Amino acid sequence: MKTSIEIDTKEVGKWVEWLATFGATKNGGVTRLLYDENWRLAQHSLLQKMNEMGLSSYFDGVGNLFGRLEGTLQEEKKILTGSHIDTVIDGGKYDGAYGIIASLVAVHYLNQHYGAPKKTIEVVSLCEEEGSRFPLAFWGSGSITGKYTKEDCKGLYDTRKNSFSHAMSSVGLQADSKPVKREDIDSFIEIHIEQGAVLEKEHKSIGIVSHIVGQRRFTVKVTGESNHAGTTPMPYRKDSILLAAECITYVINQVTEIDPQLVATVGKIEALPNVPNVIAKEVTFTLDVRHHQEEVLDYFCEKVFSYFKQKSIETGMDVEWEQWMDVQAVAMDDKLTKLAYRIVEEMDIPNRKMISGAGHDAQVFGTYCPTALLFVPSVGGISHSPKEHTDLEDLKRGILVLIELLHRLAY
Ligand code: ZN
Repeated sequence: MKTSIEIDTKEVGKWVEWLATFGATKNGGVTRLLYDENWRLAQHSLLQKMNEMGLSSYFDGVGNLFGRLEGTLQEEKKILTGSHIDTVIDGGKYDGAYGIIASLVAVHYLNQHYGAPKKTIEVVSLCEEEGSRFPLAFWGSGSITGKYTKEDCKGLYDTRKNSFSHAMSSVGLQADSKPVKREDIDSFIEIHIEQGAVLEKEHKSIGIVSHIVGQRRFTVKVTGESNHAGTTPMPYRKDSILLAAECITYVINQVTEIDPQLVATVGKIEALPNVPNVIAKEVTFTLDVRHHQEEVLDYFCEKVFSYFKQKSIETGMDVEWEQWMDVQAVAMDDKLTKLAYRIVEEMDIPNRKMISGAGHDAQVFGTYCPTALLFVPSVGGISHSPKEHTDLEDLKRGILVLIELLHRLAY
């Protein structure tokens, strides 16, 4: 690796362990849900750390925490870097947390070695991304970019029947206190764990994300006829399980034929009446399909649903589908991505360009301002688990790249 930047690897490890104490679970994982006590302690402790580092820190109206390193140019636009503080239930120490730590360590290094930047940099600890407590994801980045307003959290409750607004006020945040949408963001840089096994399998330390996939989800219902499993000859049956199986097989075969980067999953299936000696009357299954180009998703959906229609006519059974999720694919900023790639190559760090199959705050920022997303490897590809792990050397390499990237953008 070629770089003159030196950071203390052990310090990085200490940061990870420190932040993981807020919401530590018995299994060695972390549960830090939006506006719970662990969340509050983590955000306020981070605020204190930011102050100790000489950053001017503040919360916005929904609990996003910012630590600002003021630029000398007094420009209105600010470079934003960070990730999310919330976790899934019994999640890992790195998801989200690493991006906040990396940004803090990077900005602290830059401040100590080069003083004030030309352009203002803000580290952000986003209040929520996972949707683990309330049925709403990307609340932090969505509030900053104007995707969400306070109206969107009205009528939302967690599983313990706490309302969203009650949860907010319990951590000292008042709905409608300060405006949250920002008009002064120059760009957003996020570094995150991969949460997959590609980087590890290919022995790469950095992934440079070009796109975050679009996601569409459907529920498909196949309706046949219930009948006796012994007395109904095969040609007279309207077997919904058989037709569902044909539809699912078609889906999977199409995926491999259309594009190697297309993925589709039938992850949930239910049969009625679900009895061993009765021909099933009805099968419902889910279909989750992802790709980074909307045209490919359109083509896939058209092909699959016209097959479903044709099979419905052939068999005299009903096949209906309903879409309940449509997340657009988002491209990361070309200039920023190329710059990150140049830096990683100059530093001689093994890397690859990649597409993110998971959602990130960067996808919300990506539709709003120039955005870059970098990955470091996840050991065994495991995430959303106490077993989530990234080697210290890889955590460090990610921070070195972030330092260099911020240096070139802000100084
Ligand atoms: Zn995350």
